[in-house]
Amino acid sequence: MTTPVTVIEGGVVATMDGVRAEHAPGHLVVRDGLVEAVGPGPAPALDPATPVDRVDARGCLVTPGLVNTHHHLYQWATRGLCVDDGLFGWLTRLYPVWARIDEGVTGAAAAAGLGWLARTGCTTTMDHHYVFPSGGGDVLGATIDAADRIGLRFLATRGSMDLGRSRGGLPPDEVVEDIDTILAASAAAVDAHHDPGPRSRVRIGLAPCSPFSVSADLLVESARLARGAGVRLHTHLAETRDEDDYCREHFGCSPVDHLQKLGWLGDDVWFAHGIHFDDTGIRELAASGTGVAHCPSSNARLGAGICRTRDLRDAGVPVGLGVDGAASNEAGSLVEEARQALLLARARGGPEALTVRDALETATIGGARVLGWDDRIGSLEPGKEADVAVWRLDTLPHADIVDPVAALVLGTRPPLELLLVAGRPVVERDRLVTAHEQALAAEVVRRQRALLGNG
Ligand code: ZN
Repeated sequence: MTTPVTVIEGGVVATMDGVRAEHAPGHLVVRDGLVEAVGPGPAPALDPATPVDRVDARGCLVTPGLVNTHHHLYQWATRGLCVDDGLFGWLTRLYPVWARIDEGVTGAAAAAGLGWLARTGCTTTMDHHYVFPSGGGDVLGATIDAADRIGLRFLATRGSMDLGRSRGGLPPDEVVEDIDTILAASAAAVDAHHDPGPRSRVRIGLAPCSPFSVSADLLVESARLARGAGVRLHTHLAETRDEDDYCREHFGCSPVDHLQKLGWLGDDVWFAHGIHFDDTGIRELAASGTGVAHCPSSNARLGAGICRTRDLRDAGVPVGLGVDGAASNEAGSLVEEARQALLLARARGGPEALTVRDALETATIGGARVLGWDDRIGSLEPGKEADVAVWRLDTLPHADIVDPVAALVLGTRPPLELLLVAGRPVVERDRLVTAHEQALAAEVVRRQRALLGNG
């Protein structure tokens, strides 16, 4: 039987292609999970023998699916704790809780977090998992299984910490691993799960956690392993003044210079946060093609500061958006990060610091570039993966906003009429279709109560 072609027409299409073409109205044709055609007006006539699923997008805005460049899905089970702490105090109080996670709670948290990401327009997410308690089972595999179940495209990073408190790090010794265990598990994760192909749904990266929780040896060896395997590198960097002070005290230089000395700049690397870069650091990032995952809600929630997005973008640094873990951003909503990014950028740098369409770019093709996946996702162009969000803008909160892209970025979160990943529906009429939402919520509540010892 011939697979139906999906035709979306009647809505405004913001392609985010090289010239940021917008069609009002426009069409999108999806065949075999790929974009076959996109352009103005109605779709071209198809062979009458072809079965067609036709989506009436009148009153809607069609965009590429959003790309999330930084997350810790397991933290969905530890939301609402330490709600008034800064980063180091927040981490210090949460490490002992996270030391008790296992594959059960991680899988339930990941499924819930992924389900909500999908409901907020995300079609591709990365995850940075760096807590691997002994006896906790296959926690990385649990996140990959959850992404497959919910139906999102997934870049899972095998994170790590090897610098416990007894060796001068911030985390307690019970949540760190030894370097040999980490490197063996990292190589095994790449072998088991990494698919570099053009139709890939799962990729692996390596992600030592932060300068204050990993040794220089682990950073060097992780980079060697990643580059040998052809996978990407990620870590937290320049998130707080405390981290900057830690690096100057322990390494005698800024966080970015510490990473640069260890071979950690390049177009295969992206850093989460990047708030406290100086001008020299920004030039080094731009020259090397290193990307930044900007997490505005988490940064504000932890009082960490405001990322210099205008300066990073002007210098040519790839910038994407991240929700960060749900323990520091209880919303976990990707589309709302575009709004937060715009508001914070303008609060810091004035009205020209980030345009509405710049904000949508960071949420789509910008994020795809940060993940090294922009040849396949992040824009609506013939031949690319059909990862598509159809936002309904004809209901009360948005119906009279003249500019539909402004409605998406500046308005409240619109209902999602449809979300496709490789042409497959994940959300329809603002409900998940790949899983039962209340069942996901009930399971994470059950697991969270056991984890926190109050169930
Ligand atoms: Zn993070």
